Amino acid sequence: MVHNLSRVVAQDKNFLNIINGRPVAALSQETITVLCPSDGLAFATIPAGDADDVDRAVRAAREAFDHGPWSRMPAFERGRLLTRLGQLIEQHSDELAALESRDTGKPIRQGKADVAAAMRYYEFYGGAADKIHGDTIPFLDGYTALTLREPHGVVAGIIPWNYPMQIMARVVGAALTMGNTLVIKPAEDASLSTLRIGELAIEAGFPDGVLNVITGYGREAGAALSVHPGVDYVTFTGSPATGTAIQQAAAANNRGVTMELGGKSPQIVFADADIEKALPVLVNAIIQNGGQTCSAGSRILIERPIYDEVAAALGERFDKLAAGPHDADLDLGAMINPAQKRRVENYVTAAAEAGIDVIARGSIDSHAPVTGYYVAPVLFGAVDPTAIIAQEEVFGPVLTLFAFDDEQEAIRLANHTEYGLVAGIWTRDGARQHRVAKRVRAGQVFVNAYGAGGGIELPFGGFKKSGHGREKGFEALYDMSATKTIIFRHD
Ligand code: NAD
Repeated sequence: MVHNLSRVVAQDKNFLNIINGRPVAALSQETITVLCPSDGLAFATIPAGDADDVDRAVRAAREAFDHGPWSRMPAFERGRLLTRLGQLIEQHSDELAALESRDTGKPIRQGKADVAAAMRYYEFYGGAADKIHGDTIPFLDGYTALTLREPHGVVAGIIPWNYPMQIMARVVGAALTMGNTLVIKPAEDASLSTLRIGELAIEAGFPDGVLNVITGYGREAGAALSVHPGVDYVTFTGSPATGTAIQQAAAANNRGVTMELGGKSPQIVFADADIEKALPVLVNAIIQNGGQTCSAGSRILIERPIYDEVAAALGERFDKLAAGPHDADLDLGAMINPAQKRRVENYVTAAAEAGIDVIARGSIDSHAPVTGYYVAPVLFGAVDPTAIIAQEEVFGPVLTLFAFDDEQEAIRLANHTEYGLVAGIWTRDGARQHRVAKRVRAGQVFVNAYGAGGGIELPFGGFKKSGHGREKGFEALYDMSATKTIIFRHD
């Protein structure tokens, strides 16, 4: 990302913020040049929003919440608008998939999968809007007590660059279903699909100010949004360091937060597992989106009797993996930016220099532009569980293998990081499936399967440093609302 107005070349479009139902430039007229990770070339601009733009967006959301029809509208009508937005996304699916993959460098196939997932969010939450309700609670004689689920008010959604369209959808779906209004701040490295969906929301007929999208750097727009007094609740997906800063700002303002942070997710492969079934899933869990996935399965724990066999089979598959431009649709695309490429390469170099065994390395396609941000996938074997590569989130296509001797050791190793987002367990032993699933500290546990992030219907979120609060499913609707208790006395 280059902040330089004069260097825009081959520009396709100047994208605009969406504030109060209208596309608008940043008040300063400043822009950020958007580079395609596949070749490093500029092709668009986005507004470089700052505190003034954030203030404008929060005021619009505040006005829409306090005086607009949104939070008082029948829930089914809110649901209809969300469903309508999902339909518009479906109608524009080719355009959105191409935009997302060009903006992020991900293979076009992944861009299409992201559009399909985004549509499902709007469909799921559109349908859920009139099916979430409070309770009546048995209380004293002469009283009736009931609960209502009320919106927080203005929600700020600060989201990362790895799956912008999907993560926007889960935030928009849950927040708007419950009657909140919203300001979305996408990452400066990948904002285009969120701005385009903001335009589609205008077309869908959302009332002004209900869904605002404002782009800009994290240290400017993001920081201004996280301290704005007009925000009632913050939902954040991104790095633990930024999450901590946002929680500190939230504490100073006494507001609630949902935090979706990183992961170092394990998959445990027992000797009785169906290895043929497991192998493609184990590989996909680390190369999907180039490993730039919070729920990437980056650690594989293998029971010692089958360690050599599984390591060799994974090595064969890794040798054949190739990274290339988004439109070549190979196994992996490019990393999001040069800093991320360097970060991944530094982890790989340091681990290799520390003597950790490189079992296999994929390749970078020979036709890939040298100006793109590619890294070849790497498989490390016999890793020391305390090594940096075993503990820190690389956020790249780097897989680490560990051997274990029994179930207790497997559980101990699985839990032996600061994170706790997702885990996979591969075994045919039913009792073991239940035992291990309960002992692993992760917000989502797959048995004989692994799906990065799981389905839209399934609650998702972290234990430990991976965050708190839950997104997806009905759980997200509870987080995006506050319970009000009303007590009637009628004796
Ligand atoms: P990041 O924390 O740098 O950025 C995330 C968002 O926060 C961006 O919109 C950015 O502009 C904004 N931001 C940056 N500094 C800010 C500040 N001081 N105040 C307010 N906002 C600020 O993270 P990233 O590099 O975009 O994403 C990679 C990280 O996100 C990884 O660690 C990954 O594990 C995590 N992640 C987690 C999930 C999940 O669901 N748990 C999903 C995707 C990514």
